[in-house]
Amino acid sequence: MTQVIRTVAELRPLVRAWKATGDLVGVVPTMGALHEGHLSLARRGKAECARVITTIFVNPKQFNNPDDLKKYPRTEEADVALLASVGVDVVFIPQPDEVYPEGFITTVSVGGVSEPLEGRMRPGHFDGVATVVTKLFGMTMADQGYFGQKDWQQLQVVLRLVRDLNLPITIVGCETIREADGLAMSSRNVRLTPQGRAVAGVLYSALTAAAQDIRAGHADRMAIREAAEKVRAAGFERVEYIELRDAETLMPSDDVRRPRRMLAAAWLDGVRLIDNIPV
Ligand code: AMP
Repeated sequence: MTQVIRTVAELRPLVRAWKATGDLVGVVPTMGALHEGHLSLARRGKAECARVITTIFVNPKQFNNPDDLKKYPRTEEADVALLASVGVDVVFIPQPDEVYPEGFITTVSVGGVSEPLEGRMRPGHFDGVATVVTKLFGMTMADQGYFGQKDWQQLQVVLRLVRDLNLPITIVGCETIREADGLAMSSRNVRLTPQGRAVAGVLYSALTAAAQDIRAGHADRMAIREAAEKVRAAGFERVEYIELRDAETLMPSDDVRRPRRMLAAAWLDGVRLIDNIPV
């Protein structure tokens, strides 16, 4: 049975009881408006842990754009039904003042990996993520945390955070789930117009082609420029960045012996889409 819990006071005793019987506890942090990408994390959690908690919290601290926060889709009832269908044990849905009560003053800030790309385009975003993730780990006392590679930089920030603060949790990075045309599933995709949706897959196909070219020996910069041109030609308003980076540190990298990642952010129909692939 899937339980909806809204307070830490109710969550804690339940998790303690699970742990007392030796159950491994997984957590899947989300902002709701769930899709198959989120459900894949919950399923992986269920496959690996006796108990899974999915959290739904639209974290105001990680939105640098108030309009994006206001327009963020909220579909709690449907979300709970979907999570019940994959056998999640608890859906934890705290109110903002449960997470940030009066007097809350602490920020968790991860240096280095938080700074480029998303960190530069969205000031304060990763401080918001690191702070809420640290809190959710503390609130749920989970042993394993499931995160999507869709948000690659976020995944690296969380891995660094857990390592640096010795948080007693193992982070599991899960494959990006895509639509048939390659578009990475995202809660924001519902805001695309039918025309935008029809061309949105070009972001992924352009990245894939560039990565192939780079592996075949083409110059990084040329391959990336071609990818950006394809994305613009498809009708995207703006390419914020397409970058080839060290997969772990997110710093510029031409060291082909280390894993590299191509990451992109681009605007379509006033919606900011991000994606990334290995190179
Ligand atoms: P969000 O609700 O967007 O904050 O995402 C919650 C979690 O789901 C994050 O760890 C995301 O990386 C992950 N996620 C979102 N979209 C996908 C996707 N298409 N495939 C895999 N994981 C995803």
